[in-house]
Amino acid sequence: MIHVGIGYDVHRLVSGRRLVLGGVEIPHDKGLEGHSDADVLIHALCDALFGAMGEGDIGQFFPNTDPRWKGASSLVFLHEAVRMLHLHSGRVVNVDCTLIAQEPRLAPHIRVMKHKLSEALEVHPGRVGIKATTNEGLGFLGRGEGIAAMAVACVDLPR
Ligand code: MG
Repeated sequence: MIHVGIGYDVHRLVSGRRLVLGGVEIPHDKGLEGHSDADVLIHALCDALFGAMGEGDIGQFFPNTDPRWKGASSLVFLHEAVRMLHLHSGRVVNVDCTLIAQEPRLAPHIRVMKHKLSEALEVHPGRVGIKATTNEGLGFLGRGEGIAAMAVACVDLPR
């Protein structure tokens, strides 16, 4: 049976942090603030997967108070979400994500992100959609104060 889930996340852009999106480090003078590597794309995607399974959210499984996740690669969270899906005898059908960032330009990095995520999700890269848009200069995202991500996940579960 087909199930869908939705995820959203936002992190603040600050100096002195690496910028990691979709498991890929992107050269920029700022990075996202957070307990882990603050990979907003993977966080939104994990929430979409957990949602499709009828589970809680990423903060419940990987609390930002847990020292184990300090500086952790968010790919660890994604692998865990996929492991949980497989434990439920499920599999990913496809996922689709949108990154909202005024800067830097993300288009040149999307192919590599797709590849990284498809490996973690154990699906063909053609089943992973990633799009990037600016916020047309509007609001906190438009002022470059943060980067947001939205994701949907479609999974096949036995019931
Ligand atoms: Mg987050």
